[in-house]
Amino acid sequence: MSAVSSASQPVPRWLAVPSDPNGLVPAVWPESAVRDEHGVLEIGGVAVTELRERFGTPLYVLDEDAVRQTARRTLDAFRAAAALRGAQARVYYAGKAFLSTEVVRWVTEEGLAVDVCSVGELAVALAAGADPARLGFHGNNKSEAELERAVEAGVGSIVIDSFIELERLAAIVERRGATQAVLVRVNSGVHAETHDFLATAHEDQKFGFTLTDAGAAVARIREVPGLRFVGLHCHIGSQIFGTAGFEESAARVVELHAELLAGGEIPVLNLGGGFGIAYTAADDPTPIEHLATGIADAVARECAVRGIPMPNLAFEPGRAIVGRAGVTLYQVGTTKPVALGDDLTRLYVSVDGGMSDNPRTALYGAQYSARIASRTSDAVPQLSRVVGKHCESGDIVVDHEYLPADIAPGDLLAVPATGAYCFSLSSNYNWMPRPPVVAVRQGSARVIVRGETIDDLLARDAAAPAQGTTGEGNE
Ligand SMILES: *Cc1c(COP(=O)(O)O)cnc(C)c1O
Repeated sequence: MSAVSSASQPVPRWLAVPSDPNGLVPAVWPESAVRDEHGVLEIGGVAVTELRERFGTPLYVLDEDAVRQTARRTLDAFRAAAALRGAQARVYYAGKAFLSTEVVRWVTEEGLAVDVCSVGELAVALAAGADPARLGFHGNNKSEAELERAVEAGVGSIVIDSFIELERLAAIVERRGATQAVLVRVNSGVHAETHDFLATAHEDQKFGFTLTDAGAAVARIREVPGLRFVGLHCHIGSQIFGTAGFEESAARVVELHAELLAGGEIPVLNLGGGFGIAYTAADDPTPIEHLATGIADAVARECAVRGIPMPNLAFEPGRAIVGRAGVTLYQVGTTKPVALGDDLTRLYVSVDGGMSDNPRTALYGAQYSARIASRTSDAVPQLSRVVGKHCESGDIVVDHEYLPADIAPGDLLAVPATGAYCFSLSSNYNWMPRPPVVAVRQGSARVIVRGETIDDLLARDAAAPAQGTTGEGNE
């Protein structure tokens, strides 16, 4: 969904007045989200009021079973779709969506490989005990130290992004006498987002080789004894609904793949991630089974046209694995009605977090939804905007939502679909300590990433007096 200019249009067309402002839209919430007999929201069998008491707010809540089930369902979908075409499929969890050792354990136990794109992400995956052979490493500016570390760790594949990086890696494998499987990232000229895709001769962006240059890169890789070219890699965007963009991109990349077969076999075609999820009731994402079948069919069709064997497929979903499993809990601090004219009032609801724990609204114009989580209400739905406590008017968490008109300080507010790109994009803006991450499952809750304290923040201030004396922010 594109960002709707709130200045010109106070209520976006997609926002419907809910019949019940307490209701939980199934596509947006984890399956385990229900209200108990007192109207209190439960996630993974744990009441949000208990979560507030034990861990405070703001709080990232991650439903373990939801992550595991989505990972398994995604893997099954791509495997089944590829198998129908006589191929295999591997699913890499794109760690940048949400990375901690616990989440790496969940997804690898469910059969996923893991994608990392920095030495830090690699360290987390390795610390979790992930099999290095099932890690992929990508990024447009991997340093020599990062490439060295990846080769040393035995990372399964490295996605090469440029000629400079190619030579950097060639020197490393030669010096170490190592053999490294590599893919070549191409930029198919297709960029997709939600309902639209743009297809041009080349894409004006930093990632990857153009379709024209990729052949020379592959030829060079094939000359280096320590590099083994295993396939092309392409990633066309994020939060994509439907298969049209993927199909157009696959057609272009398969054409190149077919040409490159003249120089040797190519076992894999990696088509990246980008599968969309529902953030609001207006979103209608494509079921993963449908995406998997559509994409595998498109590749099979293009291969058949060219009389080449179907390669094994690889995918890299991030958001689609963890997005819906996460809910952020906030406490309401203040409310303020603002008259917009024409009998229209917008209620500003300020919560105790904001763009430091969820920058997506400010950064991308992302849309979210929200519910009062600590109770239900019979009050009428009121046009509202959930804002944070940062010194910035763009500090918006939920741009447009109808909340019960009696929402008040002390209410717990839950924002669903925050599992992806919130924790991983979080910051200390205004010196806000980052919230903890709590995993919930079958009635129990445990911290998987502890919250920051004020002492944590001061610990990096090299000129600050000795630590441990503030007594603030400690649990
Ligand atoms: C970000 C990224 C992904 C994951 O994207 P999602 O939209 O979270 O599925 C996969 N592959 C690459 C190369 C990426 O940069």
